[in-house]
Amino acid sequence: MFDSLKERLESIFSGLRGRGKLTEEDVQQALREIRRALLEADVNYKVVKDLVEKIRVRAVGADVLESIMPARQVSAVVYEEIARIMGEGSRGIDISPQPPTLVMMVGLQGGGKTTSSAKLAKKLSKSHKPMLVACDLRRPAAVDQLRVLAGQAGVAFFGPEASETDVVALSQRALAYAASHLIDVLVFDTAGRLAVDEEMMAELDRMKAALDPHEILLVVDAMSGQEALNVAEAFNNRLGVTGVVLSKLDGDARGGAALAVLAATGVPVKFAGVGEGLDAIEQFDPRRMAERIMGMGDMAGLVEKIKETATETDIRQMAQSFKKQRFTMDDLLAQFAQVEKMGPLDKVMEMLPGAVASKMKDLPPEALDDKRLLRMKAIIQSMTKAERRDPAIIKGSRRRRIAEGSGTTVQMVNQLLKQFEQMSELWKRFGKMGKKRSLLGGLG
Ligand code: GDP
Repeated sequence: MFDSLKERLESIFSGLRGRGKLTEEDVQQALREIRRALLEADVNYKVVKDLVEKIRVRAVGADVLESIMPARQVSAVVYEEIARIMGEGSRGIDISPQPPTLVMMVGLQGGGKTTSSAKLAKKLSKSHKPMLVACDLRRPAAVDQLRVLAGQAGVAFFGPEASETDVVALSQRALAYAASHLIDVLVFDTAGRLAVDEEMMAELDRMKAALDPHEILLVVDAMSGQEALNVAEAFNNRLGVTGVVLSKLDGDARGGAALAVLAATGVPVKFAGVGEGLDAIEQFDPRRMAERIMGMGDMAGLVEKIKETATETDIRQMAQSFKKQRFTMDDLLAQFAQVEKMGPLDKVMEMLPGAVASKMKDLPPEALDDKRLLRMKAIIQSMTKAERRDPAIIKGSRRRRIAEGSGTTVQMVNQLLKQFEQMSELWKRFGKMGKKRSLLGGLG
């Protein structure tokens, strides 16, 4: 799912990263490409317009363009807005504090309503005692299908009698049965039609009035694209839907519906069907979905980390030190402090985009060991000011003194000095690159 949108966005952002420092025109150009990619993923036109505008307002601001990592900042803004447009947080079924919880499943025939009802009942059966109620009195095949699925899911089933014609009476009988069998959630698989029609809506309306359900979940087929939004609008206007189940998101869907349902109808997507099997249902999580769309690692985690730790000033200072001719032990100490602030090194590494992480992989593995970091800090802290400025003066007796002062060994001090030399070499090279273009901007 979202494969082509993901690919498009990845190529847009890698183009931005390649540019280092960004101008407003660079961002405008990227926004035009993002707009086109969203439209091609079948996201509703109005929704795209709105979304791109929100991104524009945040992304062309001076604080983004002049930041050290502009491309990363722009992709973080796009990620956040895509997540926001799909809703805040993920919500499952609203379980009533006073059982039974009543869930009405509605939708067009073929949309995946019966399958989704069984999937949900199976999911609920882990912590509840649900029952599936077959309410399509016109299509005996639909009743049989639900009975079979209930058997496969291992949950209770309630169906109409042969001559039953009134869906409200059937629902009442189901409620009475539930009360005497300790059933605490009822999932009503209502009748669907091939298209939205008055007779179906009137029947659903009567059921709603009789049951006063806690949830009315509309099942729409993600593969139906824009049509899914029209269907959602029609059902919501008439019935007041509490959530959408987006079925067949595993299929060939371009995924546009997932992005647009909430914005276009005001109804949140609560679940996504991702296959034919009864376990193939996921609680819909806007942030995780946005991560998938952006093809990122743990983007949410990284955005939080950047906000929490490195302030803009920190990063600026770090970039400044790259440009200095001479690298001192104090610079190394400052680097260690920065790295420590970000948390365990291997965790930070996991969150970095591929390009940066692969550069870091060239470092020896022990460079990423947190305990080693502490020891190295202690060693530097045992040096005098003069020694920190000019480590070349640290010879035999000074090495012994520093080792004692830091509770380490001469061998470790030697190691640090060697590493310092390697680092200052690297620094010199980075400094030269930095003159051509902003180094960290290039990494962003
Ligand atoms: P209903 O008429 O709305 O009750 O639709 P059904 O539940 O009978 O589903 C119609 C078809 O879609 C069936 O073949 C299902 O197996 C299939 N289907 C339903 N949900 C999904 C899904 O999430 N992924 C896939 N791949 N197929 C699904």
